[in-house]
Amino acid sequence: MNSQQLFRRSRTRLALWYAGVMAGILGLAGLGIYRALIQANSAALEREIESIAGTLHDSLEPMLPPSADPTVVLQQIFPDLCVAGQVCAPQPTVIQRHTIGISDRSSYYIRLFDHHGDLLAFSPNQPLPLPQTVNPAPWQTLQSDSGTRYRQFTTILHSADAHPTSTDGHDHPSWGYMQIGRTLAPFDAEVRRIRWILTVGLPIALSLVAASSWGLAGLAMQPIYQSYQRQQQFTADAAHELRSPLASLLATVEAILRLPPAQQKDVPPMLQTVERQGRRLSHLIADLLLLTSLEQDTSPKSFKPCCLNDLIADLTEEFSELAAASDIHLAHHLPDAEIYVLGHESQLYRLVSNLMANAIQYTSPGGSVLVSLEARDSFAKPYGERMAIIAVKDTGIGIPAAEQSRIFERFYRVDSDRSRKTGGTGLGLAIAKAIAQHHKGHLTIKSDVGQGSIFSVYQPVIHPPVVRLEAQNPQDYYELNG
Ligand code: ADP
Repeated sequence: MNSQQLFRRSRTRLALWYAGVMAGILGLAGLGIYRALIQANSAALEREIESIAGTLHDSLEPMLPPSADPTVVLQQIFPDLCVAGQVCAPQPTVIQRHTIGISDRSSYYIRLFDHHGDLLAFSPNQPLPLPQTVNPAPWQTLQSDSGTRYRQFTTILHSADAHPTSTDGHDHPSWGYMQIGRTLAPFDAEVRRIRWILTVGLPIALSLVAASSWGLAGLAMQPIYQSYQRQQQFTADAAHELRSPLASLLATVEAILRLPPAQQKDVPPMLQTVERQGRRLSHLIADLLLLTSLEQDTSPKSFKPCCLNDLIADLTEEFSELAAASDIHLAHHLPDAEIYVLGHESQLYRLVSNLMANAIQYTSPGGSVLVSLEARDSFAKPYGERMAIIAVKDTGIGIPAAEQSRIFERFYRVDSDRSRKTGGTGLGLAIAKAIAQHHKGHLTIKSDVGQGSIFSVYQPVIHPPVVRLEAQNPQDYYELNG
């Protein structure tokens, strides 16, 4: 499988996972909202029925007749109710009067039962058929033949003059029962509407999620893909860099092996070439390993206070011979006070020496290289922090503005031929930048073609370490501290 297919497959998998998780969350949220809406509507409906039943109950109870056969009196109180067992002539119902302003009046019906639970009277709009005896359960849901559902509330009626004992000699705690029913047609219509919205809305939302997850997966894969491509480019560059010295080395060895015994005197210079190529290879591999270790190791555990004044003085001395050989004036400018940074001394040496070697390498004879050190408060991030600035300034060939951002890339050279001839691997600045970053600092460049370049390293300053001279013997203490 090539890398394109691998990334496309990973992107698809990521998008599917994302869409799946989002579908689950949306589905659960939709179900929750659906349940909450149904619950809220149902509770509101029951409250409305209860409130109407309460109003009717309170207005009816004082008027209820004590008689054993209350239908005659009931007819007087509610002339609009139909009496059970008689022909019913519908008139505006009592429930219509009581529910005025509360709700749709035609949605309600009322039924009255005696204390035996037998139907006494009912409003003419009650859904048929309904049982002729009472079911005392407070809440019931009924369905008419036409499929319309009704929610029915049953409450007990007490009469102020009701006899506690009936003619049959039993105690009856109540006068009878009242049932209030309400059609659930609007409620069911609302439920259907919510279901429809969810049925249509969820797939639309899911398709949007699927499309956006494909896009987001692409965005998430982008840096990985770029890093993968950089890695591939790096491998190709490294192979290319290793191939040339290796090929030259093998060719030289082959030539030595084929040399006739009469020309044995030519062997030593050829072996020198082998050694030179071998060293070049060894440097290259060491540089690659250093770069890798710098990228992998992010812990500053082995950092120690390092005096930059000493470091620059040492390096100037070290490079003075090379500079003199190239007819370049090498100098340093150091402050009186010592400047310390926290770091890996050998890595900091490597950083500055790479910059100095380049400065000498890319400066023509007669030019000069100046290494200076100073400490300044930072005006960029991290604000206010005191930074040590090591500047390596040369009067060399300079670097074109267009190339300045690329010279820190691995194996990048402005002038490949010249760089190779001088033994450059194209890794010097990449290593310098990696070391600076490893030490929480950064590296900048200012350069003009034909005028020269200034490479500046910024590192956070630390206070000079306090040297504690401890002595067991007071005599030793005076000797140590004067
Ligand atoms: P190399 O090992 O080839 O010198 P570096 O990473 O050190 O690789 O530098 C990258 C490129 O940057 C060099 O090939 C060179 O072209 C350019 N360069 C670096 N330092 C300087 C400098 N002081 N003056 C001019 N060009 C420079």
